Amino acid sequence: MAETVENATVKVESKPVAEQPKRWADEADEETPEEPSASSTSEDKGAEELGVENLAIDEEKKKINKFLDEPEDSNIKAVTTGDTPYTSASRFEDLNLSEELLKGLYVEMKFHKPSKIQAISLPMILTPPYKDLIAQAHNGSGKTTCFVLGMLSRVDPNVKAPQAICICPTRELAIQNLEVLRKMGKHTGITSEGAIPMDSTNSIPISKRAPIMAQIVIGTPGTIKKWMSAKKLGVSSVKILVFDEADHMLAEDGFKDDSLRIMKDIERISSHCQVLLFSATFNEIVKNFVLRVVKRDHNQLFVKKEELKLESVKQFKVYVPEELSKVLVVKERILELGENLGQTIIFVRTRNGASLLHKSLVELGYEVTTIVGSLRQEERDKIVKEFKDGLTQVLISTDVLARGFDQQQVNLVINYDLPIKHDRPSEPDYEVYLHRVGRAGRFGRKGAVFNLLFGDRDQMVMEKIETHFSVTVEEIPDWKSEKDFKGALRSAGLL
Ligand code: ADP
Ligand code: MG
Repeated sequence: MAETVENATVKVESKPVAEQPKRWADEADEETPEEPSASSTSEDKGAEELGVENLAIDEEKKKINKFLDEPEDSNIKAVTTGDTPYTSASRFEDLNLSEELLKGLYVEMKFHKPSKIQAISLPMILTPPYKDLIAQAHNGSGKTTCFVLGMLSRVDPNVKAPQAICICPTRELAIQNLEVLRKMGKHTGITSEGAIPMDSTNSIPISKRAPIMAQIVIGTPGTIKKWMSAKKLGVSSVKILVFDEADHMLAEDGFKDDSLRIMKDIERISSHCQVLLFSATFNEIVKNFVLRVVKRDHNQLFVKKEELKLESVKQFKVYVPEELSKVLVVKERILELGENLGQTIIFVRTRNGASLLHKSLVELGYEVTTIVGSLRQEERDKIVKEFKDGLTQVLISTDVLARGFDQQQVNLVINYDLPIKHDRPSEPDYEVYLHRVGRAGRFGRKGAVFNLLFGDRDQMVMEKIETHFSVTVEEIPDWKSEKDFKGALRSAGLL
């Protein structure tokens, strides 16, 4: 799961243990799953009843981000099968969408034209015979709109039963996608429901609930599976099944078993169900696997890993002598200089590290909030809503928000700890790195990422990341120099 634990495994490193610098994140968290699994005792309740509407974002409160470039999704390679011709759509009008959906796109979403991934993938999704699609495109390039429009277009408004299901790795992403769907589909009358775990105190057990009538269901795999086994989520009318962050949904250390089970159960009952798999990353192992999971006659869109980095987000690294200097860098060099620029997400490896950093920043008089998977569900929702409403500026997070989280005002990302594999601390988690970077620079906006490095292991992990993505991460020469950090923010186009 997203929460990474690293403790006794220090022994695999190059130096003897005694010489290794001690990091806060080297202290293991107690084991608690990041996302409650299907077997968790907390009972479910639909997001509708809990008022996902109340979590909707007040646009007026958002600060305007003034650094917009065109999103970079220029290097997508398409592989289509059969002889179905697809023409890329330069305008939303080219897609045969209903008046209601066009109104949703122009009036509610305020979009002007499709992004590249939308222009290419939407004709593939919407043209009969509705082939399966594996679609890779850059972070922040507008993938949500591809599958949300896909689901909204294919639902028959007269059939009052679930016809589209979208599965996401975290509750935050499920809620976010549901909000986009409701906004974009506002004029269609199509009904939707969130299938996410809820705290037991204010939820009705699924066994006592009426069957789900909503036409589109968006949720996390554990809850979807549970609703299906309880026979409350009927899938006989489901004609489109979407996996957001699909590589993680089908990875061995992600949600592979649940995802496959749901897919097979739907395909058994619903004769032709279109499967859409979206992500910014598909490593070779997952890619080979997903190619086998979809139907033989499918379409593909892929991007080379060397071309995945966001041009508009500048990456930096800075070496610090000890843990406490990291805190000073965060506060004095980055947050204070970046204060009026936009919002910041600080990624840490463990819940324990998150809590220590939170305390230290608060002691230094800095206001921050922290989200970790072990918080109560409603508490998580509140922290995310406050951040999305712009009421908080700095959010400390474990990898629970590394993927998919879309907040256009975020232009600084700090990797307080570098992302590494759970079981191999000298091995970077490349995909998580790319997704963390992608929390800044949404839809071509400008941003900067600061990697705080401490000791030989961090240096090695950083070098591996640079080689893997063929990027040069610029070094900030002196962690104590305000001038160096100002220079970095200036070169990222933020000052
Ligand atoms: P990702 O590809 O990472 O899933 P999202 O779907 O979250 O990206 O979109 C990133 C941001 O870009 C969102 O804030 C979304 O509203 C915005 N966006 C998406 N499509 C368009 C478009 N055609 N025009 C303008 N903004 C768009
Ligand atoms: Mg996304």
